Amino acid sequence: MKLTFGPVPSRRFGMSLGVDLSPYQKQCNFDCLYCELAPAQTTDHQDKIVPIDTIITELKTSLLKHKNLDVITLTANGEPTLYPYLDELIDEIDKIKGDVKTLILSNGANINDKNIQNTLSKIDIVKLSLDCANPKGFRKIDRAFGDIDIADIINGMVEFKKIYKGEFVIEVLLVKDVNDKIDDIKALKAALDKIKPDRIDLGTIDRPPAYDVMPISYEKLRQIQNDLGKLPINITARTSQKIKQQFFTKDEIIQTLKMRPLTLLDIENLFDETSQNIFKELVKKGLIIKNTIASVEFYESK
Ligand code: SF4
Repeated sequence: MKLTFGPVPSRRFGMSLGVDLSPYQKQCNFDCLYCELAPAQTTDHQDKIVPIDTIITELKTSLLKHKNLDVITLTANGEPTLYPYLDELIDEIDKIKGDVKTLILSNGANINDKNIQNTLSKIDIVKLSLDCANPKGFRKIDRAFGDIDIADIINGMVEFKKIYKGEFVIEVLLVKDVNDKIDDIKALKAALDKIKPDRIDLGTIDRPPAYDVMPISYEKLRQIQNDLGKLPINITARTSQKIKQQFFTKDEIIQTLKMRPLTLLDIENLFDETSQNIFKELVKKGLIIKNTIASVEFYESK
């Protein structure tokens, strides 16, 4: 049974060595419409549990073999916070990881639990999902176990942000006609404004999903990025980004990057060649600064 995988280069978090905390089967408290894994009965605990020693032994071997890693990514066939020894595991990883950062990719369902908040606060980068802030839409897209409530999750995220010193990323995955309506985006914006994550990863389906659902277009993602206001948003969609590059004057570039930090990929997609050269000059002059959040570079006007 392979517990570590990679390293794989990730645009979102750099060179990542994955650790699977549910290697035997899918064990998740969500059954998302867009999941890349086959649908499975939701659960609030793991039945099949991999021992910590087994994980650490394999991780030690992988770390000896693979240098130049950015992150050790705790993930799972399902939800990694269901792993019952997560707290102890993080302590053990901290002893062997050296300079490599730890990252967890969680659906956020357990974040209102103080013990989980304390455990996750020991991780360098925490990525939690927030697909929909409306209760009805949340149940429709994430199909959560039992009475898991989106208001509790949002509240947990707000509380977590207060105690967390690392880099906090919220991932939003948008599905056509499910969580992309005006009301959904308004509720999402209100929740994100309260949570104040360091970065938001905004994406849509780009791998075959568990259920018959469709992605939204790149243009719509960009529109929603604008609707969400002045937040550092990283559009993660891998679908071809066919938008027409435009000319921006120096003042327009400064104003655009004052309104909202943009990633280099956004800039390359939006600005034509002349504007990109102006942009580079502004960076050289220090009028535009680079801010790296969990390995993704954002540019903003001073
Ligand atoms: S939280 Fe992740 S693993 Fe669980 S159903 Fe959703 S996408 Fe799949």
